Amino acid sequence: MSSSVETRTSIVWDYAPAPESVDHVRLKDRYGLFVDGEFRDPIDGRYVSTINPATEDRLADVAFGGPEDVTAAIQTARSAAPKWAALADLERAKYLFRIARLIQERSRELAVLETMDGGKPLRESRDTDIPLAAAHFFHYAGWTDKLHYGVNAREVEPLGVVGQIVPWNFPLLMAAWKLAPALACGNVAILKPAETTPLTALLLAEICQEAELPPGVVTILPGDGATGAALVRADGIDKIAFTGSTAVGRDIQAALAGTGTPVTLELGGKSANVVFEDAALDQAVEGIVNGIFFNQGHVCCAGSRLLVQESVRDEVIAKLWQRMHRLRLGDPLDKNTDVGAINSAEQLERIEMLVAAGVQEGASRRTIECELPERGYWFAPTLFTDVSPAHRIAVEEIFGPVVSVLTFRTQAEAIEKANNSRYGLAAGIWTDKGSKAFEVARALKAGVVWQNTYNHFDPTAAFGGYKESGFGREGGPAGLRPYLRVVR
Ligand code: NAD
Repeated sequence: MSSSVETRTSIVWDYAPAPESVDHVRLKDRYGLFVDGEFRDPIDGRYVSTINPATEDRLADVAFGGPEDVTAAIQTARSAAPKWAALADLERAKYLFRIARLIQERSRELAVLETMDGGKPLRESRDTDIPLAAAHFFHYAGWTDKLHYGVNAREVEPLGVVGQIVPWNFPLLMAAWKLAPALACGNVAILKPAETTPLTALLLAEICQEAELPPGVVTILPGDGATGAALVRADGIDKIAFTGSTAVGRDIQAALAGTGTPVTLELGGKSANVVFEDAALDQAVEGIVNGIFFNQGHVCCAGSRLLVQESVRDEVIAKLWQRMHRLRLGDPLDKNTDVGAINSAEQLERIEMLVAAGVQEGASRRTIECELPERGYWFAPTLFTDVSPAHRIAVEEIFGPVVSVLTFRTQAEAIEKANNSRYGLAAGIWTDKGSKAFEVARALKAGVVWQNTYNHFDPTAAFGGYKESGFGREGGPAGLRPYLRVVR
């Protein structure tokens, strides 16, 4: 879709279509489970198609692991574990560096595939997901021979076989967040990608082969919730690391209670993006847009609750509404696209249901007018005003391109409203005053607080939640701790 923009000189110009070629994606017709260093059929023979949510076209058939596959995967992982743990630290680093470089080498293919399988704009998969995935492997490659520095100079050892379950919003990046620290610490890993976006994890399996990673060190077990549930409950798993919804996180915690198996949970959020009257408002508006429309709002830490100081409310909303009209929604493979497809029909239904609830509860809805493609799953960027803190759209995670605006008068009220959530994953603060930013940041119950920026990720920085957003940290030295046992 092209859009017209009237500039100050009144020249009207359009974006020409700029679709990325899909020629260099070497997609197979079907993918098995990646166990013991090779692709194999699932024991019960179950394959399920994965589709492109922007077109609804089938991309490939992917094996779904059943309980017997989980048992077999754990057996091969257990036999690979002692050798991998005993490997010299710098040898482990060598493999992680190789994987990082191969991700870089195949970055274009990975970016296009991530966009085709998940619906996110190519600009994001190319500039954010894939480079950050490589950066995580590079970062943790550097830690392999310094693990004790990361845990207060204690003597540590790996846990063994770790089960890792990831969601569909950042498929390769979440896999990298999980696998890189686990392998660096000397563990072997069984990763279960999400049912709607398994393809880049399977390409990562090919990369593991290319990197000559010893068989069994990484297992990729595509499947659905049942596969994940079987992995969580299987014998022979020494740790579970989960990223996904709070509901499933709760189920996992209940299943593991009393077993002694350590667990980390990276769950949902309803993060506050707080704009004070002294902020640079144009920059703040860019941050609001990035905070909620990046990846169609399918971001755990999305700035979905916009808190604006009352004195600048009208100005911020006017600027935001104007800026929202510049967003280009359409073909995710087009390099000019800002807002791609919603990941699945199910997710679209959930967004529509919560938006309808917002209208029904009395909030004012504004959705930008734009042409939605005929096929695929789409939702146009939406803004809610007249929102009360009790409205469902102010409380529940929508996980779509929908921002709810609330207002505050004083700093104390801003803090109170921002913390008025059962979640505590992230927050943003927009102000020109450094002292105010630090004061507010200290008072916010959120794992990550960004100041005058939003959705800024770095492998050296810890990420994780408070309250119902989970526990445990990923990234930086803090991300090593969940994968190590302190010996003394
Ligand atoms: P989801 O919880 O439905 O699924 C996540 C993963 O868990 C998938 O691989 C799924 O197959 C698997 N799963 C489903 N049921 C399971 C069960 N009973 N036992 C074990 N595994 C099971 O979440 P989703 O819809 O895929 O992802 C969206 C959610 O993820 C949002 O709530 C979002 O906020 C959260 N998320 C959090 C972070 C973070 O770092 N905190 C990052 C990304 C996404």
